[in-house]
Amino acid sequence: GASLPLPATTRVFTVSNQKGGVGKTTTTVNLAAALARSGARVLVIDLDPQGNASTALGVEHRAETPSVYDVVVGDSPLADVVQKSPEFETLYCVPATIHLAGAEIELVSLVAREQRLRTALDAFLAASGEPFHYVFIDCPPSLGLLTINAFVAAREVLIPIQCEYYALEGLSQLLNSIQLIERHLNPQLRVSTILLTMYDARTNLANQVVSDVREHFPQQVLETVIPRSVRISEAPSYGQSVISYDEGSPGSLSYLEAAAEIARRGEGA
Ligand code: ADP
Ligand code: MG
Repeated sequence: GASLPLPATTRVFTVSNQKGGVGKTTTTVNLAAALARSGARVLVIDLDPQGNASTALGVEHRAETPSVYDVVVGDSPLADVVQKSPEFETLYCVPATIHLAGAEIELVSLVAREQRLRTALDAFLAASGEPFHYVFIDCPPSLGLLTINAFVAAREVLIPIQCEYYALEGLSQLLNSIQLIERHLNPQLRVSTILLTMYDARTNLANQVVSDVREHFPQQVLETVIPRSVRISEAPSYGQSVISYDEGSPGSLSYLEAAAEIARRGEGA
């Protein structure tokens, strides 16, 4: 693949939006694949009990599979649960299983309940022989303790926004939560990246959403917009990113371009 600049230190992203169905998982998986294809070492952490990122990356996540649950609720090292994706040599995944559904409740009574993922991830990154360039944490559609763990473990937040009528609704709640985390738990956290997804150029509404979001967040919004594409929605059922499933399709090309923008901007942007 085309070579992209590699970050000197690991960039850790939380992909978050408390709305469901806005493209969090799709964005996580396809950006990770696009960056891995260009030679970066990439880790995806599936933090949604649905396990959709694990499915889309073709990694095993049956109930008995060692998973992120054993890391955040148990005391398993991340290295014991990480799997290599079948798709790219440099793409890895920490799967989520059904057990994670109970974690929101179980975490409440644990010591350092907000920091458990961060502690595990920091230890893993420090001990991994070859450095990782990117980590993407795929969040559930809520602002509970799992998402808080993701915000504490990351430095960058990537918000996918669907190009539809209610796009900006609920966003201020998300931004407030991020601000609270920054103030109390993780001073390094910031919203570095906003990606517009499921864009349909034929509708005036989509164009209105694009210009509204760009006006509100001129620094964060990527130039690249992800189009609505059947190929993107088909790929997960083959356990593949759209990059492998149909490399030349508009959806694949848009994720490759978004990944290139993220790499070129760097963390400091
Ligand atoms: P979330 O993780 O935010 O709940 P998903 O990434 O699972 O959202 O996306 C929700 C649904 O929309 C999925 O069925 C997915 O395949 C589909 N989808 C996501 N992005 C696109 C796109 N650009 N074009 C068409 N379908 C998409
Ligand atoms: Mg999801």
